[in-house]
Amino acid sequence: MPRPRLELDEVPHGTLAGYDWHKRWGVQEVCEACAKAKRDYSRNYARDKRKRERAEALRKAAWQRACSRLAERHPVEFREILMEEMRGVELNLPPEHEGDEG
Ligand SMILES: [Zn+2]
Repeated sequence: MPRPRLELDEVPHGTLAGYDWHKRWGVQEVCEACAKAKRDYSRNYARDKRKRERAEALRKAAWQRACSRLAERHPVEFREILMEEMRGVELNLPPEHEGDEG
């Protein structure tokens, strides 16, 4: 359901909603307060994204170190599990190459 259009003096300037209002209705250039809110939001979003990516990379590295240590402690079981998982990967590969033996 479309929301009724707010009048200029009803708009929450200095917020992302205010910025969207300017962009949506385009009746007036984005005011400085709303432009600043948008810049702040974009900057924070980019910073949070970098933070999330760094955290994810650290988690992945920890996971890989753990796998390596587990493989050293239990090489036979690890290899069995790896082979099982690799079979699953090969079954899900798109049909690309032909003429495999077997
Ligand atoms: Zn504004």
